[in-house]
Amino acid sequence: MDLIRLKNVEKKYKNGVQAIYDLNLAIEKGAFVFVIGGSGSGKSTLIKMLYREEKPTKGQVIVGGLDVAKLKNRKVYKLRRKLGIVFQDFRLLPKLTVYENVAFALECLGEKKSIIREKVLKALEDVGLKNKVHSYPDQLSGGEQQRVAIARAIVNDPKLLLCDEPTGNLDPEKSMEIMEVLEDINKNRGTTIIMATHDKEIVNKLKKQVITLKEGRLVNHKKKGKYEDEAI
Ligand code: ADP
Repeated sequence: MDLIRLKNVEKKYKNGVQAIYDLNLAIEKGAFVFVIGGSGSGKSTLIKMLYREEKPTKGQVIVGGLDVAKLKNRKVYKLRRKLGIVFQDFRLLPKLTVYENVAFALECLGEKKSIIREKVLKALEDVGLKNKVHSYPDQLSGGEQQRVAIARAIVNDPKLLLCDEPTGNLDPEKSMEIMEVLEDINKNRGTTIIMATHDKEIVNKLKKQVITLKEGRLVNHKKKGKYEDEAI
């Protein structure tokens, strides 16, 4: 079953830049997919269209049965509940502890305290940070901060995890730790993962699905791919 389907998708920004041309794509439930391509090839635009930060100017984006472009603003929460997002720069709340950062969204949803506690501790265990619950973000390394951001993204057990250059600010060793965490989440929770990246070493080592974008066009979609030279 496909979790994501894109049909003839185009994205032209208001300034006239066309970021995506006639993109057709299907991603099945449970997949782990790298989106690669040079700077400006459209990777972030693709990710943004999946969580309705940007709307396609033409075509259809279907995520978990929802027609994302047609979704009314007041219904966007239905989409956002199905997915978690991780960014290059972590985006943690500096005045909240690790526990509070991960619990925040669940508190906003009005979940019971006991359920929040159970979910937060499970998510922190999954990213290997159960011993840091009381720390503040500035007391953690970059790799640890990114693991908190991942825990926050998966705490409500979304079907889809979107990652935009999650290892972009980390050294190769910390990057590999992040990849191990993501692989475990994909395997153990069955979460579909889509990750935009520049990191050739990671893509070549993990041998996952690879979608290659070049100047806004899909030039390759491989089941067990490598970082193609044409993507650089
Ligand atoms: P990547 O993530 O692969 O670096 P992006 O999706 O960020 O690529 O950008 C694709 C193209 O769209 C680039 O030419 C970029 O300058 C342009 N672009 C991205 N965001 C905007 C925006 N908000 N307004 C106008 N142009 C944009």
